[in-house]
Amino acid sequence: MQHIIFSFLLMTIFTQISLAQSSFIQNKVIAHRGAWKTQSFPQNSIASLQEAIRLRCQGSEFDVWMTADEVLVVNHDHDFQGMSIETSTYEELLAQSLPNGEKIPTLKAYLSEGMQQKSTKLILEFKPSRISIARSERLGELAVKTVQELGAQDWVDYITFSYEGGVKAIATDPKAKVAYLNGDKSPQELKEAGFYGFDYHISLLRRMPQWITEAKALGLTTNSWTINLEDDMLWLLDQGVDFITTDEPEKLLSLIQSKK
Ligand code: MG
Repeated sequence: MQHIIFSFLLMTIFTQISLAQSSFIQNKVIAHRGAWKTQSFPQNSIASLQEAIRLRCQGSEFDVWMTADEVLVVNHDHDFQGMSIETSTYEELLAQSLPNGEKIPTLKAYLSEGMQQKSTKLILEFKPSRISIARSERLGELAVKTVQELGAQDWVDYITFSYEGGVKAIATDPKAKVAYLNGDKSPQELKEAGFYGFDYHISLLRRMPQWITEAKALGLTTNSWTINLEDDMLWLLDQGVDFITTDEPEKLLSLIQSKK
């Protein structure tokens, strides 16, 4: 009898582990700055994240900057409603709002919202500082530490244009999945530096499609931005890339569905 109970418990545990591992969607679609376009949500707002989740995208991408007092906030541009993020305190940024009334989201608030579900991954882009490489490195480090603090590692993949920031993020957590955006490193160089993959511009990959093959052979992930044309979507699907980052997630989702 004890054996039966023990076997049952083991089966239950294994089933829960496999469910937890398989609950994230795998359809290659990464909503760029959230899914904002169709519903006119502000880019990088909590509302655009919620819409990407509702659409069942594989991932929702967002951009992270560090304020003068080292608060990590979510915004695409270096300025928020005319205020330079890197030279403003978080408190100062609260003077303005997004067009839908949201205040600038902190990274913690954004991650906490994303962790309410386990189907869409959170693709965290930490931005290169306009002030110094040291600040890019600090942002890479603090992004990883924030994710660790919240226990969000299962949800988050990272991307960055800052090679130094990426290296610092990987040094902070060697398990951090960091893909490089800037296009100036070969797959072999990325592999040696501990990167998880690349996320390169479509024009580069059209010129250098062999990098997709090389990356796959090295076990690196492949992603491309910002893919809004059907012709580019189809080409990347034919190349078998892992992810496609788009402002038009609905279009890409229906294209993938139609090819099944
Ligand atoms: Mg971005």
